[in-house]
Amino acid sequence: GVRMRDVTKAFGSNVVLRDLDLDVAPGERVVIIGPSGSGKTTILRATMTLERIDSGTIEVGGRHLYHELHGNKLRPARESHIREVRSDIGMVFQHFNLFPHMTALENIMLAPIKVHGKPREAARDAGMALLEQVGLAHAANQTPGQLSGGQKQRVAIARSLACEPKVMLFDEVTSALDPELVGEVLNVLRDIAEEGRTTMMLVTHEMGFAREMADRVLMFDGGQVIESGAPADVLGNPQHDRTKAFLGAVK
Ligand code: ATP
Repeated sequence: GVRMRDVTKAFGSNVVLRDLDLDVAPGERVVIIGPSGSGKTTILRATMTLERIDSGTIEVGGRHLYHELHGNKLRPARESHIREVRSDIGMVFQHFNLFPHMTALENIMLAPIKVHGKPREAARDAGMALLEQVGLAHAANQTPGQLSGGQKQRVAIARSLACEPKVMLFDEVTSALDPELVGEVLNVLRDIAEEGRTTMMLVTHEMGFAREMADRVLMFDGGQVIESGAPADVLGNPQHDRTKAFLGAVK
């Protein structure tokens, strides 16, 4: 799971995350919604260590990400510690960020071999199994340029899964896709959710999908969680005026 306490992050004078507390249980699926600029992407990027937080703590799988324990005192972590804890986290972005000169399979095999020292053959077998899981075994030897947006995104998801993360972060992974390609990507996410092994944090504007697959929906506004609960409650019967206004606007 993930545990955040008093997380604050500013870009200059723009305070994007404000004393944020957030708990995600192991295996839980949390969907983050909220208006543009409310800090949704930043909280995922901070968890992936793509943005460093200014203060507060984040724990992943019971280990501090940005801190190390010395006795019972927390000190800022060394880079090697941060890398080690981060290896439990995978992230998929709105834009697929695949390596264009590599095939789908090579994209998936890269990190297990380079980062985790997995033998090439084992990485290939695992990569093929993942391509099968996302319905793209036939595209193993194609490069991203030969794939549709939906296919690229499914490869990107398979690539993240290849490192066997405990926590997966999904940042609007369908919003750059043509509408007819959204469904195939959501199906892959459903699949991962059903396996139930991976803790998932998703930022999405697909409210139908959020309602169906989230254990919990968090409404972000001004860098804080202003409302949180079961999807039927937050999406169906929001309490906060900002949530009502936001849901009214996206409908
Ligand atoms: P959206 O739905 O539009 O993606 P969001 O809720 O994901 O919005 P963030 O992307 O987290 O919002 O951005 C929150 C704020 O932080 C915005 O005001 C944005 O301009 C600012 N911001 C994000 N990244 C940076 C950066 N690298 N440098 C400066 N400002 C940034």
